[in-house]
Order: sequence, then C-alpha cells, then structure tokens
Amino acid sequence: MKTVILPGGEAVPALGLGTWHMGERGADRRSEAEALRCGIDLGMTLIDTAEMYASGGSEEGGADAIRGRRDEVFLVSKVLPFNASRNGTIEACEASLSRLEVETIDLYLLHWPGSYPLEDTLAGFDDLKRAGKIRYWGVSNFDTSEMQELTAVAGGGECATNQILYNLDRRGVEFDLLPWCDARSIPVMAYSPLEQGRIAGNRALAEVAARHGVTETQVALAWVLDRDGVIAIPKASRLDHVRQNRAALDIRLTPEDRRALDAAFPAPTSKRPLEIL
Ligand code: NAP
Repeated sequence: MKTVILPGGEAVPALGLGTWHMGERGADRRSEAEALRCGIDLGMTLIDTAEMYASGGSEEGGADAIRGRRDEVFLVSKVLPFNASRNGTIEACEASLSRLEVETIDLYLLHWPGSYPLEDTLAGFDDLKRAGKIRYWGVSNFDTSEMQELTAVAGGGECATNQILYNLDRRGVEFDLLPWCDARSIPVMAYSPLEQGRIAGNRALAEVAARHGVTETQVALAWVLDRDGVIAIPKASRLDHVRQNRAALDIRLTPEDRRALDAAFPAPTSKRPLEIL
C-alpha cells in the first residue's frame, strides 16, 4: 500500500475508506460493515467518519466493521463547528469514542471553519491529546487564508491534515492551497475523489480507461492517488466498488494519459474559492 507521511512522521495509507451516507438505513448496516472490512482486508486501513454522518450512525457502523481489529485501523473522525468550543470539542469526541467503541481516535478534525475561536478548539484538541483520546488533530474545508490563520495560532503548526474536496473535476485547490500545504509537509485528504460517483461520462476519461482496461471512475481515482502528499478516501458500499478502488492504486497513468486528462479537466490558472460539498 502506498503511504503518506503525517507531520509527526507516521505513515498512513494513501487510500482509505469514506463513510458518508453509511449508517443511514439499519437494513444496510451489515453490508456496509462488510464493505469496510473488505477494504481493510485489502490494505485500505484508514477509515474516515464524522459525528455528522447519519447523526452518529456512521460511527456506529464503523464500530461493527472494526470490532476485534481496532489495531489494524487508522481512525479519523470530526467535530462539528458548532460543537467546537473547548468543552464542546471534548464532549463531542467522547460521544464519538463511545459510538466507535474505541479508546482513541487517531486523527480528529474540525469539520469546517466555524464561529468558535480556533484557540478554543485547539485547546480542546490539546486536552484530548493529553488524555490519550486522540493522537493527532487536523482541519477540513480550510482555504489557504484559513490555514494561514490557523498556523498563526499557538500550537496551530501541529495540524496533521486538511481534508478538502479534490478530484479531476475540482482542481481549484491546485492553484494555491495544495502548494501551500506541500511547502509545509501537511498532507491533504481528498474527499469525494470520485465526485460522488458522478465523474464518469467524459470522453477523454473514457479513452484513458479503455487504454488501461479499467473503468472511468478508477482512472479518476488513480489520478488523485498519483499526487504525492494526498490521501484519497472514496466511499464504497458495494464490494465490487471497494475492490475496483483498491485496484486503481495499481494503474500507472502515462504522460499521454495525463495530457489528455489535463486538456479535458484543466488545472486552475487563478485563485478559486475553496469548493465545499
Ligand atoms: P465519493 O467517494 O467521491 O463517491 C462515493 C460514491 O461513488 C458512492 O455512490 C459509491 O457507490 C460510488 N463509488 C464508489 N466506488 C466506485 C467505483 N469504483 N465505481 C463507481 N462508483 C463508485 O464521495 P463521498 O462519499 O462524498 O466522499 C468520500 C468520503 O469523503 C465520504 O464518504 C466522507 O468520508 C468524506 N467526505 C468529507 C467531507 C468533509 O466535509 N470533510 C465532505 C464529503 C465527503 P456505492 O456506495 O454504492 O459503492
């Protein structure tokens, strides 16, 4: 498995498992846990969840998937901005720990910038770290100016990641945010790397896929995975999708493929505001 190094020096898989919309229907809980376990078996041992997803149901489903194999998994969860006061962050994390049935969350993120001062949220993260309830903290949906604000706060330099929308069709962050994070060795987690399953349907993408004998979605994922310092977290409830996503890691895009994809999905030439789903 390709890995990405966190600022603390720890290596994590470059390909993980998303869980948004999992845990919404009790009837799907067993098959969703099976899909996550299949991903873990294939080496996609980073699981991304959040207190927001299915109002905690995604974390409960995650508990089903990792029961008995906690040590194999790098767990990521998130606090909602309106819970992110110092005490609120601690309480939200404790509720997530309970739903996940674990003692520690490996990486705990502020889901998007909110109205509590960053100092308060960071104080909560620091308390949680000292108590052994989280190992690292990071942010999500932070644009470059917000990252600058964060790193100006005492302790802000400890940020382990920024989780952002990034895929072939959403390349705005390449203009400034990705270079800014690269320069500081802060890895980025690319969410919705498959554009929520809607990336297929482009001629250039279809031609590259045909050349490699894979699907368009796999090419789109391979394109995200090709970039250093990026962790992709596609969500797949279907087992065939999980296996296809793992196989995307083995696709080697050629310079010709890259040129065709760049022409169809151009890189940004000026600053674009961060896109958010
Ligand atoms: P995504 O991963 O881009 O796409 C998920 C969709 O693609 C699902 O409908 C899935 O179908 C389908 N799919 C998966 N593998 C496929 C394949 N090989 N071929 C064709 N279709 C495939 O979208 P996402 O769920 O929005 O993003 C991924 C994860 O990022 C989320 O689950 C969540 O953990 C995280 N996220 C974070 C934020 C944030 O604000 N921080 C926002 C959005 C997402 P099946 O499920 O039916 O297999």
